Amino acid sequence: MRISDKLAHEQTFSLEIFPPRGDMPLETARAVAGEMARDKPDWISVTYSAGGLGNSANTVPIAAAIERELGVTALAHLTCLGSTRADIDAFVASLHAAGVENVLALRGDRAPGREAIDFSFASDLIAHLRATAPDLCIGAACYPEGHVESESSEADFEALYRKQEAGADYLVTQLFFDNEDFYRFRERCQRHRIRVPIVAGIMPFTSVKQIQRMAFTCGASIPAKVVKRLVLAGDDPADQARAGVEYAVGQLRDLAANGVDGLHIYSMNKPAISHATHDALVGCGYLKG
Ligand code: FAD
Repeated sequence: MRISDKLAHEQTFSLEIFPPRGDMPLETARAVAGEMARDKPDWISVTYSAGGLGNSANTVPIAAAIERELGVTALAHLTCLGSTRADIDAFVASLHAAGVENVLALRGDRAPGREAIDFSFASDLIAHLRATAPDLCIGAACYPEGHVESESSEADFEALYRKQEAGADYLVTQLFFDNEDFYRFRERCQRHRIRVPIVAGIMPFTSVKQIQRMAFTCGASIPAKVVKRLVLAGDDPADQARAGVEYAVGQLRDLAANGVDGLHIYSMNKPAISHATHDALVGCGYLKG
């Protein structure tokens, strides 16, 4: 099912997995997706070589398994830096063959060997997809705290408007830890004529190390209350992870109460995160049991 059709009718709940690297067989990824499917997500997204992990070849096989074996809508991520038009067309052909009709069109992070060839920005990819594969439902990324490379927030909103006008059907946010950033962003989107639905992306942090890495790679700010809670957790890894889920659940409940279009959980191949967030959203009435 097209994600834009779901978003037109209901508030959504979605999950994410990243494809296996060398040390994780495809079978394990399938099992993880199967566990997450128990939480009846509206879709499960499958990342594409995120963080330069070089595992993009597994995105479509996993997305296909999610659609065909689990009966859950799959969203395949796709980046365009370092790709030719022919590479993108081949990826789209494999999506069609696999019966996947949803794609998240991204530029990708800059990295050595990932320079622009035929596409410089996500809006170029979206325009190409819209022209060559009109049946695809296309999502795009947005950044409540601004993209790390952006010169100004005005430039970011111009880029976002370009993505919408090129054909993006909806947006999914980068992770954020302060809901006020999201609410401010949502208001500014209205002023910048962004009319497509905006799905809020929440990541339950799992450790001090991981949240620090996220702050640097995504430019997400870490509120003082998170730091204080992590100080209390000290060196206890289980308590650090517990703090992450507790904090994310608080964010999700607040977003649910404030009329969000959809909630996406950066569940990072962890069914425990999927189950905990699902149960919390049932508890607050956002999801049916
Ligand atoms: P763009 O929209 O192209 O923006 C990139 C930068 O260029 C921004 O600073 C923007 O303001 C600027 N810009 C855009 N258009 C123009 C223009 N015409 N002129 C000048 N400047 C312009 N990465 C992966 O590798 N794999 C994944 O699976 C993945 N999944 C993601 C999922 C989500 C929900 C999000 C939020 C990010 C994801 N990323 C992933 C990370 C993403 O690839 C990076 O954030 C990347 O740096 C930017 O991607 P974009 O599609 O937003 O790029």
